[in-house]
Amino acid sequence: MKKIVTPVLKIDGNFEIISWNTSAEEFLNNILNKSPKAQLNLEEVFPPGIWTKFHSDFKTNQGIFHNIYTFSETETIEVFSSPCLDDEGNIKNYSLCIKVVSPKYTNSCDNIIQLKNILENSSLAIFLSDPSGPIVEVNRAACKLFGYSIEELKQLSREDIIQMNSDLETAIAQRNKAGEIRTELVGIKKNGETFPCEVHSVIYTNYEGEKRTSTTIVDISDRKKQELIAENSKQAFQSLFDYNPDAVYSFDLKGNFVDLNQAALNLVEGPREKAREINFLPLIAPEDRDRVMMHSSKAVSGEVQRYQTNFISLKGTKKVLDVTNFPIYVNKKITGVYGIAKDISKQVEIEQKLREEHNMFRAIIDYIPDHIFVINEKHETILTNHSFYKNYYGVENEQESLGLTALDFFEKEEATRVLEDNTRGMNNGIPVINREDIVQDFNGKKNYTLLTKVPFRFGDNKKGLVGISRNITEIKEKEKALEELNEALKKHADELALSNKELEQFAYIASHDLQEPLRMVTSFLTQLKKKYNNKLDDRAQQYIYFAHDGATRMRQIILDLLEYSRVGRVAHKVTAVNLEHLVSEVLSLQKKSIEEKNAKIKIGVLPELEVEEPVLRQLFSNLIGNALKYSSKERQPVIKISSLKNKKHWEFKISDNGIGFEEEFKEQIFIIFQRLHQRDEYEGTGIGLAICKKIVDNFGGKIWVKSSLGKGSNFYFTIPKQF
Ligand code: ADP
Repeated sequence: MKKIVTPVLKIDGNFEIISWNTSAEEFLNNILNKSPKAQLNLEEVFPPGIWTKFHSDFKTNQGIFHNIYTFSETETIEVFSSPCLDDEGNIKNYSLCIKVVSPKYTNSCDNIIQLKNILENSSLAIFLSDPSGPIVEVNRAACKLFGYSIEELKQLSREDIIQMNSDLETAIAQRNKAGEIRTELVGIKKNGETFPCEVHSVIYTNYEGEKRTSTTIVDISDRKKQELIAENSKQAFQSLFDYNPDAVYSFDLKGNFVDLNQAALNLVEGPREKAREINFLPLIAPEDRDRVMMHSSKAVSGEVQRYQTNFISLKGTKKVLDVTNFPIYVNKKITGVYGIAKDISKQVEIEQKLREEHNMFRAIIDYIPDHIFVINEKHETILTNHSFYKNYYGVENEQESLGLTALDFFEKEEATRVLEDNTRGMNNGIPVINREDIVQDFNGKKNYTLLTKVPFRFGDNKKGLVGISRNITEIKEKEKALEELNEALKKHADELALSNKELEQFAYIASHDLQEPLRMVTSFLTQLKKKYNNKLDDRAQQYIYFAHDGATRMRQIILDLLEYSRVGRVAHKVTAVNLEHLVSEVLSLQKKSIEEKNAKIKIGVLPELEVEEPVLRQLFSNLIGNALKYSSKERQPVIKISSLKNKKHWEFKISDNGIGFEEEFKEQIFIIFQRLHQRDEYEGTGIGLAICKKIVDNFGGKIWVKSSLGKGSNFYFTIPKQF
C-alpha cells in the first residue's frame, strides 16, 4: 500500500471516525491536541468555529467539497472531502484529506505532492484551470468520466466537455462574480454522449498569487434517473389519486380526513375545505357505525379491511359503498388509513331487484300447476318447479332433482324416447308447442299431457331446453264424457224432435178431424132443443144446455189447439210490416171490448220489421187480448204497447193495470192449458200464451212477464234483428 503523508481520515455519514493514517494521527495529536480513536465524532475533534462551518459545507455539498477554514491568525486548515464508493457504486463512507496551510508549508514540496495525491486519488473528476478557460490539471477520475487521456483533456477547452448553452454562460458569470458556483450542466464525453452533471467550481488564488479555478464534476445520470423515476411514480400516484373514479381518501388515526380526491368529494357532497375538517364516522349510517369502527381499528393496527357499508353524505344522500381500508406507514409507523370506496348502490339495487325477481319467478313457477323444467345439453336437469319435481321425479325439493336425467326416473324405454325427443329439439332448434303426449310419471302412471319444449342457447352458446307440460288427463276424461253426453243428448233431441213432430201431427190431425163430429154433436143438440123444446122438462133442458156448452168449449179448445199446432208449420211470406199499423188493426178488431171496458190504449213508437205478418199479428193480438180480458173492474184499464231498440234485438212491452198474479206463476202461465183463473170468472182455454211462447221461440227471441197481484202485468218479448 502506498504511503501518503497527507493526513487522511475516514468517517461515516454521522461524522464518526472509522479509520485514519499515521499522518492524521500526528496531525490530530500535534495540531488539534486530540488522539484519534474509532467512533470519535469530528465535532469533538474540530474546534467549534471550524466544526460549524465544516458541518454546513458537508451537508450542503453532500460530502463532496473542498474548503479552507481559518484555524488561527496564521494558519488555515484545508479540507478535501470526497465519498468512497462500495463495489456497487454506492457511497460507503467519506475520506477527509486535511492539511494545515501555513507559511511554513507554503513552499513545501511535500505540500504540492500531497495535493497532487489528493487530486489523483479523488473519485471526483477534478479540473484545475485558469478562470479564462485553459485546463492546467485534471485527475484520473476526470479522464474516466469524459473518456479522454490527461493529455487530450489538457488540450480541450471548456466548451468541448460542457455543452455550451445559456446555462453554462450564466454559471460562468455567476462564478466569476461570486467566486463559486454549484450548478447542473450537461457534460459531453469523447464519444459524443452527453450526460447530466453537477459542476462545483471555485475560484481561488494559488501560492503564487495566481487566480485559479478548481472544478469538480460529478455524473448525476443515475441520480437524475432516480429522480425521474421518483417523480414519475409520484405523478402516477397523484393521477391515480386525482382521477380515480372511485373515492380515494386518507384519514388520520382519529378518523379525521386528511385528503380526498374529487370522487370522494362528490360522494361526501361538500367542498374540500369542509371535508378536511370532518371525521368519517358521522358519514356512516348509524346502524353500520359499530361494525365500521371495528374495521377501522383493524386497519390502523395494520390489517387491510374490506367491507360494505351504508353511507350518508353531508347533504343526506344515501349510498352503499364497498370500502377497502389499508394502513399508511411512515418510517415503519402507522400514521393513518388510506381508503378506496366504490359506490355500489346501483349494483346493490340491481342485486336486490334480481333477488326479488328471482323470488317472484320462483313463486310463479312453483305455484303454477304446469310442470316446468330446464335441461342442459347433457340432458341434466338444471331447473324444475314444484309441480315437476314432485309429480314427475317424486322428490321433495328442487335440489334433489338437479343434475338428474330422464334415465334416473323413467323406465328405460320411456326415458330413451324422452331423451331422443329432447336431443331432436335441441339440435334442430324447432320448438314443440302444445303437443299432446302420453307421459309416464315416476310411479309409472300414464298421463295425457300438453307438452311445449323450447330449445335455447345459454350465454356460452351451449344448448338447452325449457319444457312446460300440463297434465290434461282429467280434461281428456271430461272431454270424452262430454262427447258421450253430447251424443246421447243429440240422440235424445232427435228422438224428441221426432216425437214433437209426431205430436204436432197428431194434434193437428186430431183437432182437424174432431171438428166435424163435434159440429155434428152441436148441430144435433141444437136440433134437439129446437124440435123437442116443449116436450122436455127443465132438467132435460138443462142437460142439453150443458152438453151444448161443453161441445162449444171443446170446439174452442180444438180450434186453439189447431192454432197452436199450426205455429211454425205454416210458412208465411216475409214482408216489411209497420208494427204501429199492425197494432192499430189488432185494436180495431178488439174495439168492442175496448169500448165496453172504457180501456185507455197508449201506443209508443213501434218499428217496421221484416217478418211474417200473420204470426206477429197473432202474438200482439193474444197479449193485448189478455190485457183487456184480465183488466180490473175497480179502475179504468190502461194498456201500453211500446218498444225498445237494443244492440241485437227489439224488445216489446205490453203492460196493463189489470188484476195481475203472484210472481211465482210467471213461468207456469206459458205452459199449454195452464190457467190461473176459473173459467166462470174469465173465459179461456189456457193456450194463448203457449202460442205466444212458441211464436217468440221460433223467432229465436224470449218472452217473460213481471206481474204483481192486484196491480197489473208487464209482458215482454224480444225479436232478434236478424232471425
Ligand atoms: P187464457 O187467457 O185463455 O186462459 P192464456 O194462455 O192466454 O190463456 O193465459 C194463461 C193464464 O195466464 C190466464 O188464464 C190468466 O190466468 C193468466 N194471464 C194471462 N194474461 C194475463 C194478464 N194480462 N193479467 C193477468 N193474468 C193473465
